[in-house]
Amino acid sequence: MKIVLKRDKCISAGTCVAISPEVFELDEEGKVTLKNPTGDDEQTIIDAARSCPTQAIEIYDDDGKQIVP
Ligand code: SF4
Repeated sequence: MKIVLKRDKCISAGTCVAISPEVFELDEEGKVTLKNPTGDDEQTIIDAARSCPTQAIEIYDDDGKQIVP
């Protein structure tokens, strides 16, 4: 699974961090960054990505197929 962050889309809503604080965090600009890409189980990371109101978190499976958004 691959996580791609579209930081220009991030509006600092923080829901991804609330759902998966081991994987996502906000930097000093208030934009999402990866803390630890394997810090949570895959379903929690997917749920966190789906929670983003601006679809700033893209998830791809191991075959390169986009699963979120
Ligand atoms: S949920 Fe989306 S907009 Fe909110 S902090 Fe995470 S990436 Fe940014």
